[in-house]
Amino acid sequence: MDNGAIIEEVAVQRTNLLGMTRPKLEAFLSSIGEKPFRAQQILKWIYHAGIDDFDEMTNLGKSLRAKLSDMAEIRPPNVVRQLDSKDGTRKWAVEVGGNNLVETVFIPDGQRGTLCVSSQVGCSLDCSFCATGKQGFMRDLTAAEIIGQVWLAIKSFDAFKQGSGRIVTNVVMMGMGEPLLNFDNVVDATALMMDDFGYGLSKRRVTLSTSGVVPMLDKLGDVSQVSLAVSLHAPNDALRNQLVPINRRYPIAELLAACQRYLDKQADTHRVITIEYTLIAGVNDSQDNARELAVVLKNLPCKINLIPFNPFSLSDYKRPSNNAINRFWQVLTEAGYVTTVRTPRGDDIDAACGQLAGEFQDRTRRSERHRRRAETIAQPVRLV
Ligand code: SF4
Repeated sequence: MDNGAIIEEVAVQRTNLLGMTRPKLEAFLSSIGEKPFRAQQILKWIYHAGIDDFDEMTNLGKSLRAKLSDMAEIRPPNVVRQLDSKDGTRKWAVEVGGNNLVETVFIPDGQRGTLCVSSQVGCSLDCSFCATGKQGFMRDLTAAEIIGQVWLAIKSFDAFKQGSGRIVTNVVMMGMGEPLLNFDNVVDATALMMDDFGYGLSKRRVTLSTSGVVPMLDKLGDVSQVSLAVSLHAPNDALRNQLVPINRRYPIAELLAACQRYLDKQADTHRVITIEYTLIAGVNDSQDNARELAVVLKNLPCKINLIPFNPFSLSDYKRPSNNAINRFWQVLTEAGYVTTVRTPRGDDIDAACGQLAGEFQDRTRRSERHRRRAETIAQPVRLV
């Protein structure tokens, strides 16, 4: 054995500041003997300027910068692939450790730029029309991995340098996963989206979409003001049980009552719920279905977003004809609902609604997890 010095490599575990809300960052700074107000400066560097190197945070003292470099880091997830659609939609495959991938999609529309963000690797809820549901659940994303998707999207367009990073004007938590089953991390990440020292988006421009985890929806109303979208997809329980299995646990009447409670907790009395309804040919797209939907929703302040089904390889469902879509739309419109039909965007890069699946993953592992998931489908879902 060499008599020389034995050098041990000690892995330094740095605290990732990305994803820390303002109160959490203030607490971290206090814990290392620094003034909490520094949190505002650091947040602005991270989210307004896109800086991930403490040495570039020039309004922090040299000793603080050195201390932070020793103890902390700003570490977004890695982009492993970027795909651009001919319609301007951009999709990223984002690596979040352990060969796990999630997908993030940017959809430009005039002055508006909507970012669709994932909250989990896979999803346990197995909605029958959704590619993510087919891969089963791997794990929750951290708050850093969720807000990091916004960070890397803005970075990808070089928009931090252009001033405000305002290329992303809206964020929808409608990517992979059920956001309410990753409650704390999603609440932290959306708080940063709405914090003026974070991305400063208004509560109307940050939307959380849920398939209807009723207890967590009630909890959300106590701590957040995000806009709410609900994946309904059927006008009655018999049909919704087939399409959205969590309906067996929280049927439509309970879900809509929870939506009303959510609205009742908001200070702004003019807010409405967005009802998402994926139209599947021959399954839920008849005029009778539309009439039944109009009745079911009659007491809820809402608008309706119709989403023609976007095909993917593991599904036999079909997109309805334009005539069928129009007839469905007309019934709802005549019943007095503000109803829009979502134009498919990015379907040439599998970025349209329901198509996100982290397609670069190990498919063997994915199908094994999905088999296990299918075996436990009748079990209660995991609640945080
Ligand atoms: S639609 Fe949403 S909740 Fe349902 S399986 Fe897909 S990701 Fe999960």
